[in-house]
Formats: sequence, structure tokens, C-alpha cells
Amino acid sequence: MQLDESIIRNVVAAVLSEVGPMPAGSNAPLQPNVPAGAGRNGVFTDVNEAVAAAKAAHQQLRSRSMEERKQVIDIIRRISIDQCEELGLMEMRETGIGRPEHKIEKLRTLGERAPGTEFLETKAFSGDHGLAVVERSPFGVIAAITPVTHSLPTITGNAVSMIAGGNSVVVNPHPSGKKVAAEGVRRFNEAIAAEVGIDNLICVIAEPTLETADTLFSHLDISLICVTGGPAVGRAALRSGKRAIVAGPGNPPVVVDETADLDNAARCIIQGAAYDNNLLCIAEKEVFVVDSVFDDMMAAMRRAGAVQLDAAQVDKLTSQAITKVGDDQHDAAAKDFIGKDAAVLARAAGVNAPESCELVFGETDEHHPFVTVEQMMPFLPFVRARDVEHAIAMAKEYEHGFRHTAIIHSRNVRNMTVMGRELDTTLYVKNGPSMAALGLGGEGYLSFSIAGPTGEGVTSPETFTRERRCSMVDELRVV
Ligand code: NAD
Repeated sequence: MQLDESIIRNVVAAVLSEVGPMPAGSNAPLQPNVPAGAGRNGVFTDVNEAVAAAKAAHQQLRSRSMEERKQVIDIIRRISIDQCEELGLMEMRETGIGRPEHKIEKLRTLGERAPGTEFLETKAFSGDHGLAVVERSPFGVIAAITPVTHSLPTITGNAVSMIAGGNSVVVNPHPSGKKVAAEGVRRFNEAIAAEVGIDNLICVIAEPTLETADTLFSHLDISLICVTGGPAVGRAALRSGKRAIVAGPGNPPVVVDETADLDNAARCIIQGAAYDNNLLCIAEKEVFVVDSVFDDMMAAMRRAGAVQLDAAQVDKLTSQAITKVGDDQHDAAAKDFIGKDAAVLARAAGVNAPESCELVFGETDEHHPFVTVEQMMPFLPFVRARDVEHAIAMAKEYEHGFRHTAIIHSRNVRNMTVMGRELDTTLYVKNGPSMAALGLGGEGYLSFSIAGPTGEGVTSPETFTRERRCSMVDELRVV
């Protein structure tokens, strides 16, 4: 077997990162100060090499101050903001889904608003028996899986939160968003290495497959898994035997009752459901409107600029945009229509809508596949409900128990309370667009990994830390 110098250097660095520095006076090893994978800027094809490099980067980060950790995060923020246009359009070209202006905006807002080190809180208990300090400590190297719907944005948000918590991360991105993932990660690491002197805090598998995901999940040096995606990856992460944070699928229902401000409801529904062509997991996916205001609500949607399809046009769109998959031939969104523009959906339905049209909509019954399926395209089904109880019951059924996101438009606080209790979702928005729940037009902070099934909620730096307690017995209570 032939070994070149870089392989030998990587092996030596990996061994050194296991055993620590050589004692003074020992034989000088080959470039002892070069950590595993240094100079690769986070881009790897081999999972083991990526994890070794991320491990070495984590060990370096541990020896640095909180101020330097913040400096690393500020570099990611700066690139995300300054290069949002170039990277956003790169993601648009590669994935071919969503809307370019939103690809750009997602990167910029993550750079501006993803939570950082300020989210790490120290607690203290002080009493007759001294002082206990509870602090947040990193896990180490985290494995992250990211979706095609927001490839680089998810990596960016995860990286900020995970590094703020003191970790490094290895990402297995969706294969259809792998190029922008690798390019974004390369740019982040290059700048971090130049300005802070640590390479590979964020590593990415350049040719991701289900096998590389499995290897990552089972790697001994991975201490925590964070997956963002549909049901299959959530199940795979939970089967891994490791602690997993699962940001899973949603099918967010909207209820509109007879007390709602219908024009505001229509504007908000369009804003949320049309954003990035409905790719967001939190986006409005089906609307249940009480019968007494149903026709007025449809008129409000038209006034707000959405294009209504009649029953035959909805059927025509459905026959192309919904397909059958799996052994049980269940309904699923057709790949060719996911994340496509509303005007494309309208054309498929036989309607000539202007390119500026953001959303198409139409009346369906509750069993329609556009209600039951997470469509991720800018067509919204509207279903008549007898009354608000009926609307809430249908919303609960078609949220499918994901406990992800729900929205109500109402001025009746009782109805808001009942729906909140019944659906029990991680995010619950009243009288706003879905993204208000992520701090975009509402209060709170932003992350694109919302962990419903495992309960962490909108992930933050604290999500990626362990709690540790340090107790001083009978002393240091100075009051
Ligand atoms: P997807 O489930 O097809 O893929 C997500 C990621 O998981 C990809 O990287 C994919 O390669 C990987 N993957 C899939 N099956 C796997 C398996 N068995 N083992 C290992 N890895 C596997 O989803 P997508 O189309 O990329 O993204 C859309 C889905 O993600 C929607 O269901 C949406 O609701 C969800 N999502 C959730 C959140 C959240 O915060 N909860 C955020 C964004 C997207």
C-alpha cells in the first residue's frame, strides 16, 4: 500500500488528538501541531476523516474563550449576510425549488437572527450548604442531517447554535443540495481558519448517501444526532441508539372562525403559504373555514391576490401534482411540482395566472390529498366546517399528530384556547402568518430546525448542550 505524506500527517494528528500532546523532550513527531484534516475547510468524502477533523476542531474550540466562540459565530453571520445573494441563488439553481428572493432572505435572516452564545444561561443555587453552579457544556461532535428544502440555511442555523454551544458538527446534507452545502461550509471554514485559527468546525460530506448517514450515526465519536427532514430520517435517527434531536415533518392546518378579520387572515395565509413556494415545514398547508364565513373568506383570498381554481381545475392539478408511492400506494406530492411557482401550478390546472401570482387555492373536501398530504407547493385547499368545533376537529385529524405547527384566525379567545389545547403543537400562531412563530413578524428567535417529536422545540444553542453541576460544599455563600 502506498501512503502519501498527507495521509500520514492525518493519522498522526488523529492519534495525537486521542493521546494529547507529546511530553517535552520526546522525539518530535511529524508536524505535531497540524490537527486532523487541517486545510480541508470542512469538505470531506470520507465520514471517518470528517469526524476525526471535527473532533480535532472541537478540542481546539474547547481551549478557546467564549469571546473567540462568539467571533467564530460572527464570521458565519457575516458570510451568511454578505454573500446571501450569491449563495441563495446557488441553492436555487442547484435544488430548482422555491423562490430565489426567499432563498436569499433565509440566509440573510439566519445571519442576523440565529441565536448565539447569549442563549447559554448559568444557574446557581446558594444555601446553607454552599454553592452549586449549573452550566451548559458541549456534547462534542454532532451529526446533522439537513433537508433539500433549505440546504445551506439549515446548516447555517445549526452551525451557529451548535458552535455557540461549544460543539463541532459533521453534516450529511440532502444529495440534491450537496453542492451549495459544500460551498457554504468551505467558505465558513476558510474564514474561521484565517481569522480564528481553527479549521473544520463545520464538516460536510460532499457525496452524501444513506450509507454515509448510517456510518455517521453509528460513529463512536458522534455524541449527538440532529436531523431535519421527513419521517424516514427521524425514524433512522431514533433507531441509532444515540440521543437524537428530531426536527420532523408537519402538515400545519389553519382554522378561520366567524370572528376573524378575514382580510388580515387572507394576507397572512398567503404570506405564510406562499413563502419559498410552501417549502417551509411550518407553512400553512390546509385551511378549515366555518361555513358562515366560507364564501367571504374565499372572496378575501381573491382580493388579497391569490388565484382561485374551480373544482374541475383542482381535479386537473391534483391528477398531476399528487402521485402514488410505496407498497401501499399512498398519496404523495409529485416531485416535479414540489416548490414550483404558483403560476406553474395554475398552468397545470389549465389557468393562465400572472407570474406575479403567489398562491393558488380552491375548495376541496376534507379527504382530498391536498389536505392529507404535506404538499410543499403553493396550492392551498379550503374546506368548509359546520362550526368552529368541527374546524378544530378536522385540523387535529389532518395535522396527523405531528404536533408541529397550527394557526388560527379568530378574535375569540375561547376558540384560540380550545384549539391550542386540542392540537398540542410545538408552534401555535394566532392572527399571523406561520413564520411569526419563528420571530419573523412575531416575537421569539429563529431556527430552521424545530424539534417536535423529541420535544426540544425551536432549537437554540442550549439544545446542543449538556447540563453540568459544580458544587462547593459549605463555602462561597458570601451573603
Ligand atoms: P427528506 O426526509 O426527504 O430528507 C431529509 C434528509 O434526510 C435528507 O438529507 C435525506 O437525504 C435524509 N434521509 C432521508 N431518509 C433517510 C434515512 N433513512 N436515513 C438517513 N438519512 C435519510 O426531506 P426533504 O424533502 O429534504 O425536506 C422536507 C421535509 O423535511 C418535510 O417533511 C418537512 O416538513 C421537513 N422539515 C422539517 C423541519 C423542522 O424543523 N421540523 C424543517 C425543514 C424541513
